[in-house]
This record gives sequence, structure tokens and C-alpha cells, in this order.
Amino acid sequence: MARAGMDVHYLRFHLHRDTDGLLTPTQRAGAAPADLPQPAELRDLLQLMAARGACKVRLVGDDPGRRADLGDLVAMLSGLEGVGEVALTTQGDGLRGRVSDLSRAGLRSVNFNLDTLRPERYAALAGGDGDGGAGRAGRTAAAGREGHAAAGREGHAAAGREGHAAAGREGHAAVWEALEEALGAGVRVKINCVLRAGVNLDEVDDFVALTQDRPIEVRFVEWNASNGQLAAPEDFVPTSAALALIKPALVHRESEPFAGPALRFEVPGHIGGLGFIANVTDHFCADCNRLTLTDRADLASCIFGRGIHLLRLLRSTAGIESVDAMIDRVVRRKMSLGARLNGWDTPGAALPATLS
Ligand code: SF4
Repeated sequence: MARAGMDVHYLRFHLHRDTDGLLTPTQRAGAAPADLPQPAELRDLLQLMAARGACKVRLVGDDPGRRADLGDLVAMLSGLEGVGEVALTTQGDGLRGRVSDLSRAGLRSVNFNLDTLRPERYAALAGGDGDGGAGRAGRTAAAGREGHAAAGREGHAAAGREGHAAAGREGHAAVWEALEEALGAGVRVKINCVLRAGVNLDEVDDFVALTQDRPIEVRFVEWNASNGQLAAPEDFVPTSAALALIKPALVHRESEPFAGPALRFEVPGHIGGLGFIANVTDHFCADCNRLTLTDRADLASCIFGRGIHLLRLLRSTAGIESVDAMIDRVVRRKMSLGARLNGWDTPGAALPATLS
């Protein structure tokens, strides 16, 4: 089923529904149960994407790391023919005590969204009193990251993170335990840190030091405007400013296969690495290599796009063939747009009207 020319190998599987099948509040409007795919239908769609070349699948959303069925999801994804890597973007606190099992199920990489290494600050960002609740500051940063960080901008994290900030000091401890478990299990670990003036700029050295004896990649992410929230100008930290704060000389690292747009570096002598995601000051749409499929069966070529609802096609007489044709159109259009943004003159297929 895979076709020559497929150049989008990275799929984000965005979870909007909780483990009871309920949509998150922001996704509830207008969604009738009949519009929601059954697990077998979702699996068929994911398998089709894998057959079309999506060999890396990342679980994102609200927050996959806290889902009781995460192990089942990881096992399902890693069992799809053609999928070589299953990754997860999460706040991290929900993973404590579960990483070994998840690794056995096929989880290969975890991106932790973590803006501070200090328990007190973590508690303040999460709710201010250290005993839980999603505080305004925590939610806002999370929303910003969703856009493109975690995933390397990948980040694009968040929509769902809102309303789930980890709980205070206990949450911080849980994140660290999960992170250590991941390292111990051989799962690749990245930390997505959204730098904000007046909040966490004084921790840059501490984040860099983390990479000295741990195989962690710390990625400094510009505050993203997704979720409709912009950083106040005085809070925004451009990548150029973040780079200027790094004291050791940096050595450039090559990109990973099918990775996001992070500029990667390492400090000589450090086991881990650093990444910088300039999703605002150096937009990288021209090189975007990802598609998003939601658990509502919406396929989008951009996290800011509305997406195309594939369920009607899947349930139509033509079934999977019509879905395959639509995926082909979306991929060709994305490649065409990328080529145009790169200044190449490449003919592209007509874009479905609903695709941004
Ligand atoms: S096209 Fe641009 S904005 Fe959209 S997902 Fe890709 S990098 Fe992000």
C-alpha cells in the first residue's frame, strides 16, 4: 500500500478522549457519538498511515501519560506493521512506576514537558500551594508548548495538557522518578522546557548541567501561540537569547531521522545534548515532517489545521481505498506547500477545502 514519494514519516496521534471514551471539554462541542470512531476503526486508520510511511508515531494530547490504557495503546501502535518507533509526550507525573511495562510494550521515547527543576517553583507553576491543581502559570506555559515543543515542536503539546498540571511537589517527585525509570529502562528521554523571562531563565545552567552525566536531550522551546495564548512580549525568550545564555561552547549535532526541527548541540564531554526550537522566530513549516491523526479520526497536515474527518470515508462504500486516496492528497499537498515555502517550484495536488 505504501507509495513512492511519501515524505511524511512522522505521525502524531492526538488523544482527545479519555479512557471512558469521553471527549475533553474543549473537544466536546458538536461531536455526536456517531462521529467518533470505534477502536477497530482507529486501528485501521493508524495501520493505513503506517503502511503509507508513518514509521514514527507519537502519542500526544490530554495527557497520554496519565491514561490507564496507555500500555494498551503503546502495544497497539508498536504492533502495527511499519511502525518502528512509538514515542510519547507527557507531563510525566503519570508515568511513575509504569515505564518498565511501557518499555516492554514498545515505548521507545518520552518527551517530558518540564519548565523547572525546582520543586517549589514546580508547585507554584502547578497551582501555587504545592498540593495540586492546574495553576494559571502552569496552564499557560503548557498551552504554549503544545504548539510545537514537545515535539520538537514537537512539541505541539497541549491542548490537552490544560487542566492537568501535575500536582505540586509530589508531582515534581513523580516526574523525576518517571524520568529516572525511563533512563533505567533504556527509553530515550527529552525534556521540553519553555523559557520565560522572570520565571525560569535562572535555571538554564541547571538544565544544561543535567546533560552532563545523563543521556537526556534538553530542548529549549520558544513560547508558542497555539491554544490562542501569546506570551507577553516581556516574557518571551527567543532562541537567540537562550543560546546566548549557554556558557560552554556548543558543538552542532546532526538531526535524528524523522526528528522535529530542533537545532541540536552538545557540550563537549556531556553525555546528553541540547536542542533549541525556534518555532516563533525561525518558523520551520517548510521542513515540517508530520501529520496529525486525532482519536476523532481527523487527519491534519498541521496542528493548527481543522483536519479532514476520515470516518465518513472509512464507512463509505469505497472504505479504506477512499481513505487512502485522501491521505495521498493530504501528503502531496503538504509536500507541495513545503516545497513552495522552500522556494522550489513543485506542482501539487489540489488541496481539499477543509485542509488548512
Ligand atoms: S506546518 Fe508549521 S505550524 Fe503546522 S505543524 Fe508543521 S511546523 Fe507546525
